Amino acid sequence: MPRRVVVVGSGPAGLWAARYACENGAEVTVLEARRKVGSKLLISGAGKCNYTNILSARDQAERFGRARRFILKAMNFLPPEKLVWRLGQLGVVPELVDDFYYFPASSCAADIMNAVMMPQIEYCTSAAVTGIKITGDRVCAVKTLNEEEIPADAVVLACGGLSYPQLGGDMSLVYRAAELAGHNIVPPVPGLVGLKIADYSLSELSGMVLEDAELIWYFGGKKMRTGGILLFTHNGISGPAVLDISAAVARALSAGKAVKVKIKFFKELDAGSWDRILLTGSVDNGKKSVASCLAERLTRRCAELLLMLAGIPSDRTMSRLTAPERRLLTGLLGGMEKTVCDTEGWRKAMVTSGGVELKEVNPETLESRLVKGLFFAGEQLDVDGPCGGYNIQWASASGALAGFCAATSE
Ligand SMILES: Cc1cc2nc3c(=O)[nH]c(=O)nc-3n(C[C@H](O)[C@H](O)[C@H](O)COP(=O)(O)OP(=O)(O)OC[C@H]3O[C@@H](n4cnc5c(N)ncnc54)[C@H](O)[C@@H]3O)c2cc1C
Repeated sequence: MPRRVVVVGSGPAGLWAARYACENGAEVTVLEARRKVGSKLLISGAGKCNYTNILSARDQAERFGRARRFILKAMNFLPPEKLVWRLGQLGVVPELVDDFYYFPASSCAADIMNAVMMPQIEYCTSAAVTGIKITGDRVCAVKTLNEEEIPADAVVLACGGLSYPQLGGDMSLVYRAAELAGHNIVPPVPGLVGLKIADYSLSELSGMVLEDAELIWYFGGKKMRTGGILLFTHNGISGPAVLDISAAVARALSAGKAVKVKIKFFKELDAGSWDRILLTGSVDNGKKSVASCLAERLTRRCAELLLMLAGIPSDRTMSRLTAPERRLLTGLLGGMEKTVCDTEGWRKAMVTSGGVELKEVNPETLESRLVKGLFFAGEQLDVDGPCGGYNIQWASASGALAGFCAATSE
């Protein structure tokens, strides 16, 4: 008799778990709460799906912070180069973007989903799982919202997280089965999400991008730096310089800690450098307006807003800029300090930070240490990575390992 494996969730983790379980001889059923398979996968990377990148399994794992050791076995089971190769075998032609990120050449996330799905697997939608049935110390069935019991020799929970609730996680369902099985859930907070600034005075910059900003963060007694592309939003900041640190900020905020950020418009230019630039400008371009001079490096809109924030008339010429005015301006340009008051919340978050506690799961197999035959994969675990294909790589690799072990372990 083939082993019966039930996979809960049809994101990349669930789809790969089902494929590996099926390829290893199991009879597989996927249960998905939503009406469609792979909803979040389909919108990932703006519908194009950045599914991994050129880094090795070990180098990608290093970017997962405290989870890096836990995830290594899974990342090596289906490493980035093998994921690209396997998808290639299944008809997904890879395209390398910016010499780093892998997307399907078709720019269509659905191609990945269709490639990973198999006709031998049963995919049931509108099938929310509410619990698992355990006899002795072993899983024997899953229970669905409509009171059905589906027998299983092994169950893979790949329920994702709480981000984008419009397409995935419903708080009442995502962690329920894991919790009922006795697992602890590290309180989830939004990750890869924009941040809101208190008393925001920069809303007029909404949509403006700084290509090489530097952000200096202060929270929980720590000082951290991030850099790169910064996007001003209508109520705060976003973009790569913000997203990768946002989960840590969210956790600090949820613990009631104050979070401050100093925004440097250009990484290389501190207040002293700006002071020299403005002084030189007052000699070389005395008749030019300060706004025009600044607009050569920033946008006109940004230059005018900074003058307004510093209380300097917009037609002030370089030669007439006073020393106190220059100090005000250089202070803003070289490190404007702001208080972060919130994240943009679950509806905008790309991942969840938090989830099933890692010490209760065996990293060699992704099997629960509490219940035999119960496996976990993907974002459901307390694992979250940065932007750039890391999260789908992790979901795919952990799904592959969990599915393989669910099909083959006794
Ligand atoms: C807008 C956006 C863009 C993104 N772009 C990228 C990108 O380009 N590259 C990248 O690496 N990552 C990206 N991510 C992150 C990535 O999509 C996720 O990390 C990944 O989908 C996680 O996979 P998963 O299978 O663990 O969970 P999910 O994809 O969330 O799938 C979990 C599934 O389980 C179902 N489910 C939940 N509870 C139950 C239950 N009780 N019973 C049955 N089913 C249940 C959910 O409905 C869901 O379909 C993006 C995320 C978002 C929101």
